[in-house]
Amino acid sequence: MNLWKIEVPLDEDPFKVAENVNVFVVEYKDGLILIDTGPDTEIARCKIENFLKEKGFSFSDIKKIFLTHQHSDHSGNLNLFSEITKADVFIPEGLEFIFENPLKVMEKKEKKFYYDSLKEGFTEEEAKKVSSYFSYLKERFSPVKNIVPVSNNQTISFGECEFKFLVLPGHSLSSLCIFDIKNKILFSGDVFVKDGFLSGYYFSDLEREDREKSIFFLLSSIVRLMELKPKKILPGHGSEISDFENVYRLNLRLLNFHKNKILKLLKERPYSPAELFKILFPQFKPHQVVMTFGLVLQIIDFLEEEGKVVIKEKDGKIFCKLKGG
Ligand SMILES: [Zn+2]
Repeated sequence: MNLWKIEVPLDEDPFKVAENVNVFVVEYKDGLILIDTGPDTEIARCKIENFLKEKGFSFSDIKKIFLTHQHSDHSGNLNLFSEITKADVFIPEGLEFIFENPLKVMEKKEKKFYYDSLKEGFTEEEAKKVSSYFSYLKERFSPVKNIVPVSNNQTISFGECEFKFLVLPGHSLSSLCIFDIKNKILFSGDVFVKDGFLSGYYFSDLEREDREKSIFFLLSSIVRLMELKPKKILPGHGSEISDFENVYRLNLRLLNFHKNKILKLLKERPYSPAELFKILFPQFKPHQVVMTFGLVLQIIDFLEEEGKVVIKEKDGKIFCKLKGG
C-alpha cells in the first residue's frame, strides 16, 4: 500500500475555512482510491492531475472515490472526477438528494440561510453575504453519477485491503469516515481534525430541534472513531493525528473556553447569536461565517441543553440570555 497526501490551498475559495484541504491518494493492488476531491478550483484540478502524472498514473487508475462529506472544500470537482475516472463515488447514505439534485438543494438553503441569518441577528447586508455562499455553490455543483450510498459499519474489500465505513453525524449532516482495517489507518474527514472543532453543522443543515444535539453527536462520533484504535488518523485538514486522546482533550478545552466566554458575556445582558459570533470570532468576514457561526449556535444550544441559557424569539429576532437572568 502506498499513501500520498495532496495539500490543496483554499486561497481561491472565497468562503475558505482553513488554509488547505487534504486530498488522499491510496494505492492498493487493485488500483487507486481517491479520498475527497478538494475545492472546485483550477489549483485543485491541476494539483491532482500533476500528482497523477508525476507518479505515472492515469485517471483510469482511480477505481474508487470516497467522499468524506459534501462540504465544498472536499467535494468540488466531484462530478468532473467521477466522469473522467468512471469510478464509483462512495458517499454517506441519506445524502443522495444533495448529489442528485444540487441546484434545488442549494436554492432552498440559500433562502433558509438568508432568513435564518436575519433572525439570528445579522444585518440584511450580512445575511445576503452569508447566504451568497449558496449562490456560489449553485454554480459549482453539478449532479454526480455513479453514486454509491454507504451505510454505517458497512465493509468492502479492495485489493489486499478491507475497509470499514462509519457514517457519523457531527460535523456535517452525515460524514463518511473510512477505516483501513489492515493498516489501521483512519480517514476522518472533518469529524476529527487537529485544530479545534472548526467543525459544527452548517446551521441550515439541521432544523433547530435536531441541531441541539449536534455537539453531543460530534462528541459521540469522535468517541466511536477512537474505539477503532487506529494507528493514525488522517484528517480533512492539517497534519496526521497519532495522539488522538490528547487532541480530543484539547478540543474539549477549546469548547469549554468558548462556553465560558459566552456565559460571561450573557451575565452583562442578552445577546443575539450574531453578536456573540462577532465577539468570539472578530477576524471572520461575513462571507466566511458559514461554518464557524454554526459552531456558535451549537455551543448556545449546548448551554441551553445544560440548563444554563435560555433562547428566546422576540419580534422575529433570537436572543440568548442566562437562565434566571
Ligand atoms: Zn473541510
